Amino acid sequence: MVDFTLTPRQKELRENALEFAIKHVMPSAERNDRVPDVERAFDWELVREASRRGLRTLTVPKDWGGEGADVMTLSMIGETVAYGDLGVAVAFDQTWKIMTMIANLTTPEQRKRWMPKVAEDPTCLLAAAATEPLSGSDSILPYNGSDGGVRMTAVKKGDRWILNGEKRYISNGGLANVIYVMARTDTRLPPSESTVGFLLTSDTKGYSCTEVWDKLGQRTVQNGTLVFDNVEIPDEDLVGSRGGALAELGALLTRFGSNIQAGATVLGVAQRAYDITLQYARQRIQGGKPIFEHQIQQQRLARMSMKIDAARYYLWYSGWTAQQGQPDARVASLCKVHAAECAVEVVTQAFELWAATGYMRKNPIEKLLRDAQSFIHSDGTNDVLTLKAAGRLGNIEKGDPRYSKRVEEAAAGR
Ligand SMILES: Cc1cc2nc3c(=O)[nH]c(=O)nc-3n(C[C@H](O)[C@H](O)[C@H](O)COP(=O)(O)OP(=O)(O)OC[C@H]3O[C@@H](n4cnc5c(N)ncnc54)[C@H](O)[C@@H]3O)c2cc1C
Repeated sequence: MVDFTLTPRQKELRENALEFAIKHVMPSAERNDRVPDVERAFDWELVREASRRGLRTLTVPKDWGGEGADVMTLSMIGETVAYGDLGVAVAFDQTWKIMTMIANLTTPEQRKRWMPKVAEDPTCLLAAAATEPLSGSDSILPYNGSDGGVRMTAVKKGDRWILNGEKRYISNGGLANVIYVMARTDTRLPPSESTVGFLLTSDTKGYSCTEVWDKLGQRTVQNGTLVFDNVEIPDEDLVGSRGGALAELGALLTRFGSNIQAGATVLGVAQRAYDITLQYARQRIQGGKPIFEHQIQQQRLARMSMKIDAARYYLWYSGWTAQQGQPDARVASLCKVHAAECAVEVVTQAFELWAATGYMRKNPIEKLLRDAQSFIHSDGTNDVLTLKAAGRLGNIEKGDPRYSKRVEEAAAGR
């Protein structure tokens, strides 16, 4: 039976995250969002504070001093931090999800070397680099022609790999000290057989972040171009199966909870938009009474709250299936699509209610409007994730009790 009752520990973590979001993240979010130079918009003090609170290391396994949190807990905490600011939540959420992948894909020997780097450095953030100038959705759907896939090359030389190529739009690019990167061992082979994942630290020779992209929303976190110029990585830092990194990226998005967590963070934006709009509607007087008392605005707010609840429980349900050991990849993709659409719709409705006042940059809605857009394309475009889910819709075959003879006849034109 599906059960969303929060455990005492989940309640404790959520209170911790809410205090962090309201006391520490929110006060500087709008100021940092407007810093013209995006390289200066990230607040490192927030990372140190999250470390003190145990929030940065939520997915570090307990044996290594972390929380070992499950996907449903991460959804809750990600949404709560994003309530303070989406960009800041993304910095942590990337770290949580990549840590989960490292914990799942690495050997005991690799964990011994990599876990302390993340757990013990209070400013350690993680990044995962797949996207390249010529390869975006191809790694997510994925396209298996040898002319597609990532172009970054990994050439074996003795017991080392030499990496050359460029990644772009990478969240935490320029901030992360530990990076997971995907490269091809042989670009003549299909990507499903030739894509490998490596771990490296940002001080590795030949590695650099050459550009931090200015962007519409999520301006408080960095999205970087990462250049690999003859970067040498020892064979022992190849993670996962040799050639199977594309399938592993697919697992990160669905089974390991990346899409679910991504949806949860953008939902935090919707919740914030709803809360401030409810307050505004109760306080703003037009037509002789608070605008909340005009039925059309009440309906608008009721619908906004309904959409947020539905998106949240869809995300939690998906997290719950993963926790039961039966993750549903279709639902894991779709709950991110749904949450991203919900956030855009809720913030647009909020914008409608705020009217001209919402359009002014001094007021908080316009930032939420920009932030909400980011997950239509991040963590896999909604179009591509929907296509992936469509491939998992199944069929109702003859012999299935739901099979309809009349439908068969109608399809045959009878
Ligand atoms: C805020 C943000 C953060 C990001 N962070 C990261 C990160 O940390 N790491 C990382 O590796 N990447 C990251 N990305 C990149 C993101 O994952 C890619 O943008 C995404 O995969 C899409 O790639 P693209 O932009 O090159 O679009 P393209 O793949 O070129 O797609 C263009 C359009 O074509 C559609 N399309 C593509 N293929 C198909 C198909 N087969 N069938 C039908 N339609 C198709 C897409 O849906 C889209 O509408 C981030 C992006 C954003 C916006």
